[in-house]
Amino acid sequence: MREYKLVVLGSGGAGKSALTVQFVQGIFVEKYDPTIEDSYRKQVEVDAQQCMLEILDTAGTAPMILVGNKCDLEDERVVGKEQGQNLARQWNNCAFLESSVKSKINVNEIFYDLVWPINRK
Ligand code: GDP
Ligand code: MG
Repeated sequence: MREYKLVVLGSGGAGKSALTVQFVQGIFVEKYDPTIEDSYRKQVEVDAQQCMLEILDTAGTAPMILVGNKCDLEDERVVGKEQGQNLARQWNNCAFLESSVKSKINVNEIFYDLVWPINRK
């Protein structure tokens, strides 16, 4: 059976957990617990095919980082650095890094930048 990994993202209180629990268990959760983060499995039939859905209900507060990759290809640049910085600012002021996997630029930083804010909580 094909497996589908789905992630529910969105602001706190938007209804992610309630939506996931209503879909998986058929009940409406009145109580709001912003810390609940869990994964759920449900088998469904879509287009006459059995599918196994694995749904990750996030707490919606995980830090985010915007990455512009392939910065070694400066001659083929399509997104300006400032464009990236502006978009990151719009996305709740998340961090923005330009990286090159090929030239090993900012590879570690991407992941460290995600861990630091979690440690500070
Ligand atoms: P999450 O932070 O996105 O996971 O939000 P929750 O799923 O915990 O929902 C936040 C609150 O909104 C809870 O008290 C839910 O019962 C309520 N809620 C979620 N969906 C609906 C909805 O469609 N209608 C109403 N009236 N309340 C909802
Ligand atoms: Mg929730």
